[in-house]
Amino acid sequence: MRDMLVVGGGYVGLSVAVAVKQAAPHLDVAVLEAAPEHVWQKDMRASAIIAAAIKMLEVFGIWDEIEPSAQPINKMIVTDSKTSDPVRPVFLTFDGEAEDGKPFAHMIPNVAMVRALRGACERLGVEIRHGLGATGLKTHDTHAEITLSDGSNIETRLVVACDGARSHLRDLAGIKTVRWDYGQSGIVTTVEHERPHNGCAEEHFLPSGPFAILPLKNNQSSLVWTETTSDANRLVRSDDLVFEEELERRFGHKLGALKVVGDKRAFPLGLTLARAFVAPRLALAGDAAHGIHPISGQGLNLGFKDVAALAETIVDADRLGLDIGSINILERYQAWRRFDTFRMGVTTDVLNRLFSNDLAPIRIARDFGLGIVDRLPGLKSYFIGQAAGTTAKDNPRLLAGQTI
Ligand SMILES: Cc1cc2nc3c(=O)[nH]c(=O)nc-3n(C[C@H](O)[C@H](O)[C@H](O)COP(=O)(O)OP(=O)(O)OC[C@H]3O[C@@H](n4cnc5c(N)ncnc54)[C@H](O)[C@@H]3O)c2cc1C
Repeated sequence: MRDMLVVGGGYVGLSVAVAVKQAAPHLDVAVLEAAPEHVWQKDMRASAIIAAAIKMLEVFGIWDEIEPSAQPINKMIVTDSKTSDPVRPVFLTFDGEAEDGKPFAHMIPNVAMVRALRGACERLGVEIRHGLGATGLKTHDTHAEITLSDGSNIETRLVVACDGARSHLRDLAGIKTVRWDYGQSGIVTTVEHERPHNGCAEEHFLPSGPFAILPLKNNQSSLVWTETTSDANRLVRSDDLVFEEELERRFGHKLGALKVVGDKRAFPLGLTLARAFVAPRLALAGDAAHGIHPISGQGLNLGFKDVAALAETIVDADRLGLDIGSINILERYQAWRRFDTFRMGVTTDVLNRLFSNDLAPIRIARDFGLGIVDRLPGLKSYFIGQAAGTTAKDNPRLLAGQTI
C-alpha cells in the first residue's frame, strides 16, 4: 500500500509530492497523471508567481534552475477606460518590491516550472505514472482504493486530488461545489514587441473585462485578455493580423509594433469553490478545491498555499506517528485554507463584476477608489504585501522560506 497518491500531475500535484517527500523521505509517494508524457512541454503559457510561492520553490531547491527564465515584475500600472479611448489615464501604480528589495512577483513560463518540479520528483524518488486517469474511488477505514483507467487499482492511506477545476475525484468523494460561469473567456498568448517593457505589468480595465499584459524575458509579454466567450472564440480563430489590430486598439503603441508569437487560446472563466476540502482519506488542493477568475493572477498561487499547508499538516502528523489520512488530521488543513480561499474567490468575483462594465456611476466610483489608493503609500504597501503573500500571519513554513 502507498502512503500518498497524488491524482493530477499539474503544478499543484507535483509540488505537493515534492513538499511531502522532501520532508518525509520514508513515505511512499506517487503521482498519477491522465495526460500522456511530454504533453506538458507544449504549454506555451506563463504564470505570475508571488514572492511567498517563490520562497517555497527555493526550499525545494529548484529556484536556481527556474530563475534564468523568470522575469521579475518591477512595476504595475492600472488603468480604467473604454476600448475606443485614445489615451488611457493611469489610476494606480505599484512599485514591485515586496520585502528585502525582492519583486512581489515573477512571470514564470509554465514549462520551466513543470520541468523543475518533475526533476525534483525524480531526484526524491517520487514515481510519476502517465496516461492513466483515476476513474473510481472506494474508501475503507484504513485506506482508499483508486481505480485507474486501465482497470487496475492502487491502495493508499491518503489521496490528494489535484485534478483541476473539473475534478472527477471531488465528485466521486461526493463533495459539492458553489459554481457559476462568467460568460467570459480569457484569451492567452505571447507577443513580441519593439520596445522593452522594463519589467512593467499593465492591467487595463475595459468594458468587456480586464486586459493584462505581463512582462516576459527578451522583449516578449504574456497576454491575459478577457472578452465575452463568443468574442474570445472569434478572436482566437482570427488571422494574426486581425488579432494584432484588435490588440493594438486595446493596448496602443506604447511598446512599438506587436507581433503574436505564441498559440492563441481561450479559457472559459468561472468560479468554482468546493464546499469541503477534505473527505475521509482524501484532500483537495489547487483548482480541484477552487477555480477563480484570473483578474488578479492568484489562482495557482492559492494552489501553492494549499500545497504548503497540506504538506505541513501531513508531515507534522507523520512525525507524531499519527495516521496521515485520518479525517481529524485533514480537517486541520481544511480549517487553515478555507477562509483564505473563500475570501480570494469573493474578492476576484466582486472585482470582475465591478470592473467588467461601462456604467458611468460605477466607473466614477471605482476610479475614485483607485485614485485614493494611489495617493496613500501605506495602503499601497499593504496591498503589495497581500499580493506577494509575504505578510499573512498564518503562512505555512514553506511560504516563509523554511523547511517543514
Ligand atoms: C487565462 C488564465 C490565466 C491564469 N494566470 C494565472 C497567473 O498568472 N497566476 C496564477 O497564480 N494563476 C493563474 N491562472 C490559474 C492557474 O492556471 C490554475 O490555478 C492552475 O493551473 C491550477 O493548477 P492545478 O495543478 O491545480 O490544476 P491543473 O493545472 O488543471 O492540472 C490538473 C492536472 O490533473 C490532470 N488530471 C485531470 N483529471 C485527472 C484524472 N482523473 N486522473 C489523473 N490526472 C488527472 C490533468 O491532466 C492536469 O495535468 C490562470 C488561469 C487562466 C484560465
